[in-house]
Amino acid sequence: MFEKILIANRGEIALRIQRACREMGIKTVVVHSQADAEAKYVKLADESVCIGPPPSAQSYLNIPAIISAAEVTDAEAIHPGYGFLSENADFAERVEKSGFVFIGPRPETIRLMGDKVSAKNAMKKAGVPCVPGSEGGLPESVDEIRSIARAIGYPIIIKAAAGGGGRGMRVVHTEAALPNAVIITRNEAQAAFGNPTVYAEKYLENPRHIEFQVLADEHRNAIYLGERDCSMQRRHQKIIEEAPAPGIPPRLRDKMGTRCVDACKRIGYRGVGTFEFLFEKNEFYFIEMNTRLQVEHTITEAITGIDLVQAQIRVAAGEKLTLRQRDIVLKGHAIECRIAAEDPYKFTPSAGRITQYHAPGGPGIRVDSHVYHNYFVPPYYDSMIGKIIAYGDSRDQAIARMRIALSEMVIEGIKTNTPLHLDLLSDAAFLNGGTSIHYLEQKLANYNNNSG
Ligand code: ADP
Repeated sequence: MFEKILIANRGEIALRIQRACREMGIKTVVVHSQADAEAKYVKLADESVCIGPPPSAQSYLNIPAIISAAEVTDAEAIHPGYGFLSENADFAERVEKSGFVFIGPRPETIRLMGDKVSAKNAMKKAGVPCVPGSEGGLPESVDEIRSIARAIGYPIIIKAAAGGGGRGMRVVHTEAALPNAVIITRNEAQAAFGNPTVYAEKYLENPRHIEFQVLADEHRNAIYLGERDCSMQRRHQKIIEEAPAPGIPPRLRDKMGTRCVDACKRIGYRGVGTFEFLFEKNEFYFIEMNTRLQVEHTITEAITGIDLVQAQIRVAAGEKLTLRQRDIVLKGHAIECRIAAEDPYKFTPSAGRITQYHAPGGPGIRVDSHVYHNYFVPPYYDSMIGKIIAYGDSRDQAIARMRIALSEMVIEGIKTNTPLHLDLLSDAAFLNGGTSIHYLEQKLANYNNNSG
């Protein structure tokens, strides 16, 4: 096992990884920007290294600075967390070439799955059902694009092959709008991701977002750990997640989970990973794979009893999976609310000092957050400041516990989205379970109409 791991991330996930390491007896090095120098999790680490000024481009995305930090501290492995460099194949390669272990898949795998066109092709070959669409990237000829779109059937969605973070996508309802939409998306894709390739897919009108968690070692053993429903989204960003997904029959879960596991073995996947699907009319359609730990890994931990970060570190160290598929038993229900420093209905970010802080607790409640009384939320990064995870024997119990936790939580001095969460946790459609990915935006549109 590693003696020392460098954590190339910040905030709640840096703390989460640090906790896993401490439990395993592994020393930690935390790299941080000048804006995070005073954070408690930075002080709690065995060592910390400042890698640059506040903007991410000069710190958390600064590859040479991170590699040097690993060199001067004699770390053996680098954990990228989520976001930042976690799905950057070039970073993974640089880490390995510099003699460190990258806690994640091989760089080739990240590259394969990072391009959504090659990812879809690999999944099709592995027998994973995909959203119907173009064979690979769209050609130059407008006539050819038109006939591809006609064959798929409107509405379609044009997506950047290199896209991520919900960007580089455009829905097209009519043939008249097609040529322009392709040009604009191509230009955006080039500007944002440095790759103009776009492809077309059937636009599913009312799907749910359901994803499967996998865990694989480098000896071609892989298992799946059930699924999560992440349909409660705004601008393609998840807000509430739950596991298991309401209403998925065990046989369908097993079938899809097994396909994901087979795909992992086929591509030689290593580490934790997530297969994201849209789910409509009882069918699953693969959209992409995330080759890293996810924000919402916590709810899978709650229903399986497995520490995914520790498991991830073990397989990165070359250990064989000791868990078999039959060892994985899903028990109870878990919900996660992402707590963001922002206006609950206008969504404007709300950085600043937390003047009062009280974290909730009690049976079934887990709070993953790096913030505390007097913590200053810097304006430079993602607005998420923590997560509350509620576990119960049943979905109803998890919801009841989450409501209590949200109502106990005190964060003053900045705005948070807690009121929106409380609102959603008593929303009739959410309580029913199985809302689509558009539900939240529709609800917010109604809210704005009524209050405006
Ligand atoms: P990203 O990598 O940017 O997260 P994804 O391919 O995972 O992009 O898609 C993000 C979200 O966009 C999905 O969760 C869904 O809300 C929407 N989306 C993507 N593809 C489709 C599709 N074919 N039909 C309907 N919605 C889609």
